[in-house]
Amino acid sequence: DAPQGPHPTAPAPLPEIRTIIAVGSGKGGVGKSTVAANIAVALAARGLKVGLLDADIYGPSVPMLMGRQERLTLRDKRIQPAEVHGLKAVSIGEMTDPDRAVVWRGPMASSALMQMLTQTDWGPLDVLVVDLPPGTGDIQLTMAQKVPLAGAVIVSTPQDLALIDAKKAVGMFGKVGVPILGMIENMSTFHCPACGHESHIFGHGGAEAAAAAMGLRFLGAIPLEIGIREASDAGTPIALKGDAAGNAFRNIAVQIQE
Ligand code: ADP
Repeated sequence: DAPQGPHPTAPAPLPEIRTIIAVGSGKGGVGKSTVAANIAVALAARGLKVGLLDADIYGPSVPMLMGRQERLTLRDKRIQPAEVHGLKAVSIGEMTDPDRAVVWRGPMASSALMQMLTQTDWGPLDVLVVDLPPGTGDIQLTMAQKVPLAGAVIVSTPQDLALIDAKKAVGMFGKVGVPILGMIENMSTFHCPACGHESHIFGHGGAEAAAAAMGLRFLGAIPLEIGIREASDAGTPIALKGDAAGNAFRNIAVQIQE
């Protein structure tokens, strides 16, 4: 198939946003949202003006990750992002009933996403991090075709199954002309907090090897760690802390910024 990237003469719909980065994964549950939120927080900690858009219509988790469970706030018909942990966040979860399954068809979901993107008062941003739904569906295609994406970051666990899907996600972005900024291995090494033993519950090094095989940059590995899960559930992403896991996210943010 021929590449179907953004139309070359299409106007930039978001003049105030310098760079838009999508965070994707082949399948759900690999920590894509955790990574998106932590990268955004880490970039903000580096002094950048950062936005975080939760486009994961099937499991919006940015409100929980950032500690803000709110409904959409409008002023003059424009969406007001939540200002939290040094960045501006908006979630598609704010547009939907948290207790009901979202049954939007693809075009509806895509148009809701475009509304959140273009009708939010982001103000000037250095970077907008978009947490995509897992997989390679309508929303991802809309993003790739209608939004001037600087690139996509792909999150995978080291496990074979997750990696096979991650490769499909890489293929989809390639087809629509979106550069891959790199791959991140999440849920990598587990250090037992009791005995210090290192184990590889989902395997080890798989994402790095897959990145090398596809000629992609490997951005780093995030350990499997109870502190990451606890910080996420508490709404205070671990990247706010200076511990090993927080630093792993900060190092990835440095590489993305380069
Ligand atoms: P996805 O967005 O890919 O569906 P999430 O970011 O929602 O995945 O993560 C799924 C679950 O795994 C969450 O409960 C999250 O807190 C947890 N999690 C993600 N990454 C890690 C990690 N590195 N260590 C421990 N728990 C993690």
